[in-house]
Amino acid sequence: MIQNRTGLVLHKRDFTENDLIVTILTEEGERLELVAKGAGGPQSKRRAHLELMNQVQVTLRHSPRHDYLQSVECVNSFSSLKNKLECIFHAQVLLEIVRKSVAEENPEPELYTLLHETLLALNEKTPHPLTMEISLLKLAHTLGVLPSFKHCGKCLRDLGNNAIWNAELGTVHCLDCQETDAEKLELKYLKALEFFKQAHEADYRRVHLAQGEEDTLRSFIRRYFQHQFQDSMKILEWA
Ligand SMILES: [Zn+2]
Repeated sequence: MIQNRTGLVLHKRDFTENDLIVTILTEEGERLELVAKGAGGPQSKRRAHLELMNQVQVTLRHSPRHDYLQSVECVNSFSSLKNKLECIFHAQVLLEIVRKSVAEENPEPELYTLLHETLLALNEKTPHPLTMEISLLKLAHTLGVLPSFKHCGKCLRDLGNNAIWNAELGTVHCLDCQETDAEKLELKYLKALEFFKQAHEADYRRVHLAQGEEDTLRSFIRRYFQHQFQDSMKILEWA
């Protein structure tokens, strides 16, 4: 059976000397593992189309043992993003987290939309400085692993200006429920996090933060994700 799909290249690895296994997240949110015969060879024309994070149109053939990639054409290679080292690292973190979060049998179309929008945003001339961090927030929100920034995670009371964040546990609690070694999160940051977790790029790119505020949010979100997705976040140690 031959099928057509549009998707993003999340990952590539060698299968045999000349063949690759390519992981693609489709528009429908499926994670496909496709054997690309001959695509690993230096002469392969398909190789360039299958660069990491490319948006591609593929034809695949289903067989009992493997799904095979019959043909591939690159739709968008996000070439401006790929000229900016920092953006490459940021995109890689997101690709890794998405790859690990989508189970083959459980499609997540929202994650495709989120990843595609983020790659488009990073591909712009001057992306919002928190583009990756905001996408991480949205990712956690979509996956249902983001704490509430309005209510205490334990007693569910309104947090107001009394939010205490525990970096070790990834929880946000009120003063009464706080654990040791916790930090206070000011109300303005709670409001920013609530806003960013569901804002469209067109809306959040109009938000300009003071440098100190931007640094605080960046640090909060990165540390939160280091707790949640330790391995994937290691890429940032090189950035
Ligand atoms: Zn509480």
